[in-house]
Amino acid sequence: MNKIPFFNLSEQTNAIRDEVDRAISGVIDNTAFVLGSGLEEFEETFAAFCGAKYCAGTSSGTSALHSALIAFGVGDGDEVVTVANTFIATVEAIAMTGARPVVMDVLENTGLIDPSKLDDVITGNTKVIIPVHLFGQCCDMDPINEIAAHHGIKVLEDACQAHGSRYKGRRAGSLGDAAAFSFYPSKNLGAFGEGGAVTTSDEKVVATIKGLRHHGQIIKNEHSVLGYNYRLHSMQAAVLGVKLNHLDDWNEKRRELAARYQANLEGSGFWMAAMHPDCEPVYHLFPIGRIDKEAVGKALSEAGIGWGQHYPIPVHLQPAFSYLGYSEGDFPVAEKLMRTSLTLPMFPELKLEQVDEVCEVLKSIPFT
Ligand SMILES: *Cc1c(COP(=O)(O)O)cnc(C)c1O
Repeated sequence: MNKIPFFNLSEQTNAIRDEVDRAISGVIDNTAFVLGSGLEEFEETFAAFCGAKYCAGTSSGTSALHSALIAFGVGDGDEVVTVANTFIATVEAIAMTGARPVVMDVLENTGLIDPSKLDDVITGNTKVIIPVHLFGQCCDMDPINEIAAHHGIKVLEDACQAHGSRYKGRRAGSLGDAAAFSFYPSKNLGAFGEGGAVTTSDEKVVATIKGLRHHGQIIKNEHSVLGYNYRLHSMQAAVLGVKLNHLDDWNEKRRELAARYQANLEGSGFWMAAMHPDCEPVYHLFPIGRIDKEAVGKALSEAGIGWGQHYPIPVHLQPAFSYLGYSEGDFPVAEKLMRTSLTLPMFPELKLEQVDEVCEVLKSIPFT
């Protein structure tokens, strides 16, 4: 066990134990384990939190992305654009529809989608753009929405790392035509298991997703389209409802920790994601880059400090996506960032003194 873990859920879980126990007991009492009033209640609360009109709970972030793409009519022969440095699930969801994932590079300072490169990749077959709010910072959505509108393309936010994050005062989940969230336990808002959601203000999109997640059934016993079993369990919705009340406080703690990292490492030569002045990030992760990853990882491990990699291999160089025909060097900014970065401990219960300790170790490593 590391002296300073990369991530740890036990303190947070213990702190809300009584509230969560009561919420879970409520689900056990009414036995509506799937698609009950508890789920609807969470969906309404989460939509309102995001500033969207509607929400559909799903079984994971991946199924949220997949069902949202289908709701936008994406299928065989279509193209969907996203970035090279995302988690593999973004690209899996595109491929699962039969569409072709089209990958693009990112901005060096933020690690987020570079809107000025969109026109290079959009073709007559492009149906959707998926900007990924990576590390918890929203993408620069105004130019993305503008370009999408100009081409008649939908925008699906991958908000799986950005619960509560703001762009120009508005939350992730209300910044495109729809947004996909993951409630994987380690996300800023995490279930006690798997979970996800789509938020949107488009009534038709939410209705389609609610059908798709329930075997394509909109009217009882009538399966109008090929569907899936993509429902969010009521027990998970109950847990998420409790945790949502704490999310803004937890995100504020993450911002304090990030500010401490930034103050400590300022001028040290490490790459840190620049924050756009229009954004209020939620620091799902805290990556540092432009480092000799092996040397830094070794020094951290020897000091008993946990660390992660998000993500060492870009999606276009993953064996599963070799059929797309990309090669090394196609997206140099993303590739370099991914090759030379690792992620530092970041979770709301981490202490400022622990951040100082991590930074002392980092500053003691001869910089290469
Ligand atoms: C976690 C994550 C997903 C997938 O969510 P799951 O709930 O694990 O299916 C998709 N995209 C990004 C950027 C993620 O971080």
